[in-house]
Amino acid sequence: MGKVIGIDLGTTNSCVAILEAGAPVIITNPEGSRTTPSAVAFTDSGERLVGEAAKRQAAVNADRTIFSIKRQMGNDYRININGKKYSPQEISAIILQKLKKDAQDYLGESITDAVITVPAYFNDSQRQATRDAGRIAGLNVRRIINEPTAAALAYGLDHGESQKVLVYDLGGGTFDVSVIEIGDNLIEVLATSGDNHLGGDDFDERIVQYLIQEFKKTEKIKIEKDAVAVQRIREAAEKAKKELSQLTQANVNLPFLWSGKGGAKHMDINITRAVFDRLTEDLVNRTRQPVLDALAQAGITAAGLDKVILVGGSTRIPAVQAVVKSITGKEPCKNLNPDECVAAGACIQGSKFGGEIVAGAASDIILMDVTPLSLSIETIGGVATKLIDRNTPIPTRQSQIFTTAGNFQTSVDIKVLQGERRFARDNKLLGNFRLTGIKRALAGVPQIEVSFDIDANGIVNVSARDLGTGRQQNITITSSSNLTEEEIERAERDAQMYASEEAAHREAVDIRNNAEAYLYKVEQAYHDMGKKFDRSVRSNLKADMSELRKRIVKAKPDKITYEQAGEIMQALEKLKQTTVSYGIQV
Ligand code: AMP
Repeated sequence: MGKVIGIDLGTTNSCVAILEAGAPVIITNPEGSRTTPSAVAFTDSGERLVGEAAKRQAAVNADRTIFSIKRQMGNDYRININGKKYSPQEISAIILQKLKKDAQDYLGESITDAVITVPAYFNDSQRQATRDAGRIAGLNVRRIINEPTAAALAYGLDHGESQKVLVYDLGGGTFDVSVIEIGDNLIEVLATSGDNHLGGDDFDERIVQYLIQEFKKTEKIKIEKDAVAVQRIREAAEKAKKELSQLTQANVNLPFLWSGKGGAKHMDINITRAVFDRLTEDLVNRTRQPVLDALAQAGITAAGLDKVILVGGSTRIPAVQAVVKSITGKEPCKNLNPDECVAAGACIQGSKFGGEIVAGAASDIILMDVTPLSLSIETIGGVATKLIDRNTPIPTRQSQIFTTAGNFQTSVDIKVLQGERRFARDNKLLGNFRLTGIKRALAGVPQIEVSFDIDANGIVNVSARDLGTGRQQNITITSSSNLTEEEIERAERDAQMYASEEAAHREAVDIRNNAEAYLYKVEQAYHDMGKKFDRSVRSNLKADMSELRKRIVKAKPDKITYEQAGEIMQALEKLKQTTVSYGIQV
C-alpha cells in the first residue's frame, strides 16, 4: 500500500503532511506556501480556482467565490454557481483534490489514502460529510480524527506519564479549545468549547477598519465603497498583522489605492503593536471564557493541566500567547508550527495504516475520541431517553431494554436523537426506523433491546431487537443533516435556559406515566377478580378508575400542564386508597 497523507481540512486554511523517514513533512504547494486557503472559486468560463488563486480574485468575483465551507458541512446548504448546485461536501472535495494533487506532485507517486481531521465537537453528520468529501475527491479516508488529538500526536505527547493537556486552537475563523487526557496508549477528549465565529479574520478586520478610518482622516475619502481597494487593504492588513507577531511596528504601503478628480491617492500608514493590541484586546479576551468552560467541563482547574498546546496560525499573536499564559499559568508549548501540527498529527496516525514506523511511540497509540452530543431514543411522552451521554469515549456500544406502550402492539418506531434536551422534539432527529413482527402481547411484556454502536470515526449504528422473536432492524446514521455548529451551540445554550422548564414538564410526564402504569395494573386486577367482590366495591373501584383514566386522557403528554399533573395525582391517590382499603393487591 502507498503512503497515507494527513489532511487538516480547515475553515480558513488547509494543510497536508506526509511521513518521510519516520517524521512528518509538510507539503509545500506550487504557490510556495505550506498551507492552502480553503477557498474555491468559479470563473466566467467555468474554470475552477482553488486556494490562493481563489482568494486573490474574491473581491471581483464575490458571488462565485466560496470561503469557510467547513461551517456548512453536514447540513442541507447548497450553493448555486453558474446554474449548478453544489453541496458543502463537493466544495470541500475540490479543496481536498488540490491537496491530494499537490502531495502527488511532491512525491511523484499516486496517493489514494488519507486521514482527515475534524473539530472535536463535530457531530455525526459533519464527520460523515467530511468522509464523503474525501470520497468525492477520490480519497480512501482511513480515519477521521479530532484536531486536538492530532495536535497531541504531533507533539508526541503519548510518551511517558499520563497527562492532561489543554489544546488552544485559534485559526482564521474559529476558536476551539479542548481538554484532552493522554493515558496508557490512548488519547481521550475530556471537554470541548470555543467560539465558532472568532479567529484571525476578525483581527484582520480590526486593522482594515483602522486603516479605512486613518485614510478618511488624512484624505477625506470613503475608501470602503471601493471593493477592490478594500480587498487590497485586507491583504495588507493580514500581512501587517503577521509582521506584528515579530516586530513592534508594521507599515502598510498601498500605492495608487484610489484615483479620482484630485489624482491618485496612496496609503502609507504605520501601525504599532500597541495600537494593534488595543484594537484587538476584546477579541483576545473573548477566548477566556471558553477556556474556563472547557476546564470546568473536564472537572479540573488550570493547576491540573500538565501542558498547554497552541494550534492555529493566530496563536502566533503575542497578546494571544500572553492571555493563554495568564489563564492557565503555564508557558504554552511552541516548538511546532501551530498551523501545521494538526496535519502532522494526522499523517502520524495515517502511517499506522501504511505500516510505517514513526519516530517515537506515537505509532502505538489507540485513538480515543468522545461523542460530541448525547444520543437518545424517543420514549413515551416525547421524552428523549439517553443511551449514550455526551463526551463518552468512542468506540462505544450501549444497550437498553425497552418495551411496548400499548396492548398487542406488533411494531415500534425507533427515533434516534442527538442533543442535550429532555424532550425529543427539541433534539436533532438523526434517523428513524421501525421494528416490526413483535410477538403479540400485553403492553409492557415484550423486551426490545435497543443498541447504539459508535465506531472509531464517530459513525452511529443503531439496532433494535425483539428478544422474544429475535427479529432485528438497524440503521446506520449516514445522512447529511441540518445541524450546524451554530445549531449545536444554540442547542446547548437553549438546553441550559430551558433546563428548569423542562424539568417541570418531565416531572409532569413522569407523574402521568406512573399513574397510567398503576391504573393498568388495577384494571387487570379488577378484570381478574370477577364476582369475588360485591357490587358496591366494584362500582367504587370502577368510578375511581374511570376518574383517573379521564384525567390521564385529558393531559396530553406533550402539552401536559402542572395543574393537570396535580389532578392526576389526586385521582391516583383516591384510587390507591380504594384499592388498599379493599385489600386488592396490585
Ligand atoms: P490557520 O487556519 O490555523 O491556518 O490560521 C490562519 C490564521 O492565522 C489566519 O488568520 C492568519 O492570518 C493567521 N496567522 C498566520 N500566521 C500568523 C502570524 N505570524 N501572526 C498572526 N497571525 C497569523
